[in-house]
Amino acid sequence: MADFDGVDFLLLDEELGEEERLARDSVRAFVDAEFVPLIQEHVRQDGSFPMELVPKLGALGVLGANLHGYGCAGMGSVAYGLVMQELERGDSGLRSFASVQGALCMYPIFTYGNDAQKERWLPQMASGEAIGCFGLTEPDFGSFAQGMRTKAECSGDRWVLNGSKRWITNGSLADVAVIWAQTEEGVRGFLVEKGTPGFEARDIKGKFSLRASVTSELYLQDVEVREEDRLPKAKGMKGPLSCLTQARYGIAWGAIGAAMACFDEVRQYTLERQVQGGPLAAKQLTQQKLADMLTEITKAQLLALRLGRLKDAGRLHHSMVSMAKRNNVDIALQIARAARDLLGANGIVDDYQSMRHMVNLETVRTYEGTHDIHTLILGEQITGMRAL
Ligand SMILES: Cc1cc2nc3c(=O)[nH]c(=O)nc-3n(C[C@H](O)[C@H](O)[C@H](O)COP(=O)(O)OP(=O)(O)OC[C@H]3O[C@@H](n4cnc5c(N)ncnc54)[C@H](O)[C@@H]3O)c2cc1C
Repeated sequence: MADFDGVDFLLLDEELGEEERLARDSVRAFVDAEFVPLIQEHVRQDGSFPMELVPKLGALGVLGANLHGYGCAGMGSVAYGLVMQELERGDSGLRSFASVQGALCMYPIFTYGNDAQKERWLPQMASGEAIGCFGLTEPDFGSFAQGMRTKAECSGDRWVLNGSKRWITNGSLADVAVIWAQTEEGVRGFLVEKGTPGFEARDIKGKFSLRASVTSELYLQDVEVREEDRLPKAKGMKGPLSCLTQARYGIAWGAIGAAMACFDEVRQYTLERQVQGGPLAAKQLTQQKLADMLTEITKAQLLALRLGRLKDAGRLHHSMVSMAKRNNVDIALQIARAARDLLGANGIVDDYQSMRHMVNLETVRTYEGTHDIHTLILGEQITGMRAL
């Protein structure tokens, strides 16, 4: 497969700074050289992630890339977004690994942790020596996470955690889990280390989607942690929700990467594929599909770029992120489906990537706030009324 050259119909490259282009290009080259050759084998093994790439991801600066200090790259929001785009152009599992590590685990430690927690975890997590996961969802509470049953009870200078979490990316890989639990004072976050007695992770198998990613269930039975392992500044659902806003921002960019990969693949394919005496690309119906894909990718790029500039200016509202996550994942999924269709029978084998992106995007549509939940967030922003 030829190296990826980008999709930039409106010459948006001209809107990017040198540092932003550099971050994108270095991750693009890494994905082509190091990740693309591995993905097929990992998808064939359900729940397998190329762990040998983790130190390289650390060295590239993509883990906690938008955080400052503690060995993090300190990138601006647009550079960070472009990094997420390029990772997901490889596979949603690769971007998910980086999103969970950075936005869902390092970000809460950075934002709500004390100095000792930051010193202990952030440098190791930035380099990829330590892996984190984020435990919010439970078997019975996904969209309505505030209903969670996992409890933390205070006993002197200790906390005792009981409950379970499900659908946790990197759960069994993680050296540290950020666990959100109910306390007498509302939801609080705790850092639970691998190997703590009573804490167990079991992988979920049989996934059609996000196969090159580890997804686990976490069990907590009388798990004791110290008061020093509680995130002191996280109070209530604002804690986990603020992490989700960070991760959703990355997804809004990442989905564009998946869409670009499918568009690029199907454009090349239709130029070469001969049907009824000519290239498939010369048919009117094909051109309409390609025109729709390019238009939607370009609109998604504009949305993401504006979001990034607003984020850096401190003017981002979480409902803006909802609009971008909702739209960009939706169009990426539609593009992946249309690309799979144009590939014909070839589209159902893993020599081609569009169907892999398509099934991955089914997860991306569900996690980090489902499509419907973002519709409701926008609905509330528009009307001032929370729909039930
Ligand atoms: C591969 C994968 C990785 C994941 N990784 C993580 C992770 O690392 N950490 C973590 O904490 N979680 C993770 N999740 C969980 C994910 O965030 C949840 O699956 C998601 O929040 C949806 O919850 P649910 O699956 O319980 O669906 P539900 O909340 O049961 O939703 C089912 C359907 O009902 C709709 N619905 C829900 N509420 C309403 C409403 N009020 N009105 C109208 N419709 C509604 C939804 O839109 C959806 O269509 C992951 C999930 C997957 C699949």
